[in-house]
Amino acid sequence: MPIPILERWFVKRPSVDRPPKDRSHIRVGIPRVLNMWSTHQFWIGFLKALGIQYIVFSSETSEEQYREFGKGRGTVDCCYPVKCMSGHYGELIFGQKKKIDILLSPMIYSLPSFLRGHVVDTVACPRVMAAPENIKSGFLKEGDVFAQQGITYVSPFVSLGQPYLVPKQLYQSLKDVLDLDEEETREAVKAGYEALERFNQKMRAQSRQILTWCAREDRPCIMVLARPYHMDSGIGHEIEVNLQTHGYPILWVQYFPIDDDLMDWLFGQEIRAGRIRSPFDISDVWASSYSSNTNEILWGAKVAARCPWITCVVRLSSYECGMDQPTYTPTQKIVEATGTLYFKFGDLDATKPAGSIKIREETIVHYVEKYSRQIIHRKRALLPDECPLL
Ligand code: SF4
Repeated sequence: MPIPILERWFVKRPSVDRPPKDRSHIRVGIPRVLNMWSTHQFWIGFLKALGIQYIVFSSETSEEQYREFGKGRGTVDCCYPVKCMSGHYGELIFGQKKKIDILLSPMIYSLPSFLRGHVVDTVACPRVMAAPENIKSGFLKEGDVFAQQGITYVSPFVSLGQPYLVPKQLYQSLKDVLDLDEEETREAVKAGYEALERFNQKMRAQSRQILTWCAREDRPCIMVLARPYHMDSGIGHEIEVNLQTHGYPILWVQYFPIDDDLMDWLFGQEIRAGRIRSPFDISDVWASSYSSNTNEILWGAKVAARCPWITCVVRLSSYECGMDQPTYTPTQKIVEATGTLYFKFGDLDATKPAGSIKIREETIVHYVEKYSRQIIHRKRALLPDECPLL
């Protein structure tokens, strides 16, 4: 068994730096699906650091996309966000003006959540993790479509929630395809995490601006509790977009500001009373905190219940989601404990029942208009006078 420290001491160092490898001609396609919605900046940062300039994402999910590119390639999964990946693969293979060289569809095992360290784990839904293998089979059943199209299919297994594992995982799975060495993989992974962190900070800063505007104007906003891929207009059906047109700003739980001053204002009293250990502790409401996106939804419910200007929560979930079902009652109870409005769209799938969604949106708008003022004042009275947003 090699002794790591000896390997480092005796490694042969080149007398001059090797010239950078030219990967600028390589075209990489990435399906815009599942947890790519929360990790895309990692992949962009990683590939760019390796000198890859051309990175194309498939377009958002749509019926047309599936009809044109995914039909006949379905596999056995009944989960809608997984099923529609066939259309994304097909679009990247058949729908590009300039052909891609590599189709990169990572099997993401764990996620770099802001709750990591405060929860049991931050793993992805097992269906999400296995989805690339599942969907790939639809493109192999009558012959290897990737080979026929001259595309290399790569699906690295990657634990993004455990950054120390990632360089080795990506090096081993991509070294032949991209002619990598270990050092440049390590550097590229670092660049990927930095890009992701920059993006998350920017999004949180924008959410804070929205919240500050609400606080100063005493205006309500709506929080969406959903998985990252419900941001896809074909998965989430743009319900939050329609609500925003009525003048209610939207906050997504994934990008809620987590600055110390705001966290202390919302959770400080409970920490000092010994009820929770930190603002990110969800053990008071969710003991089996393994699943990253589920944890964030439960945490978002706690935030929404406390933050005065979030007067309404919209919970989105896809058809037959077994991961979401156990969370419905807890999230609703947490949110409604302070009188915050709660509406669930729990059966979103391919068909967009536009009429019934519209009626429900009108109902939400009616209640938000009618009750927000009193909800804000009631929740404001539960928190310390000194608000960091004012
Ligand atoms: S969390 Fe639910 S909707 Fe998402 S992939 Fe898993 S089973 Fe499907």
